[in-house]
Amino acid sequence: MNVPDTLDNADLCLCSSCPTRNECVKHQEQRMFCVRGKTDCSLARNGCFCGACPLENEYQFSGLYFCELGAIR
Ligand code: SF4
Ligand code: SF4
Repeated sequence: MNVPDTLDNADLCLCSSCPTRNECVKHQEQRMFCVRGKTDCSLARNGCFCGACPLENEYQFSGLYFCELGAIR
């Protein structure tokens, strides 16, 4: 399973509206962690939208908190 790191796919990512996203992540404009890998920001888990992400459906993977756990392999 390989999710292309394209702008179209990044636009489908739900991280931008996620409650776990904090100022550090916003400042670095990070998203699409399932492809790009985890953040170096410190995070507190406040919920994750990955389960509702269209990319999980399209590319048939599952998981949450990629921002903390890192990219799918
Ligand atoms: S990976 Fe999940 S918890 Fe992390 S920012 Fe994206 S939607 Fe939120
Ligand atoms: S699965 Fe999560 S990290 Fe990956 S694109 Fe969707 S919302 Fe973003």
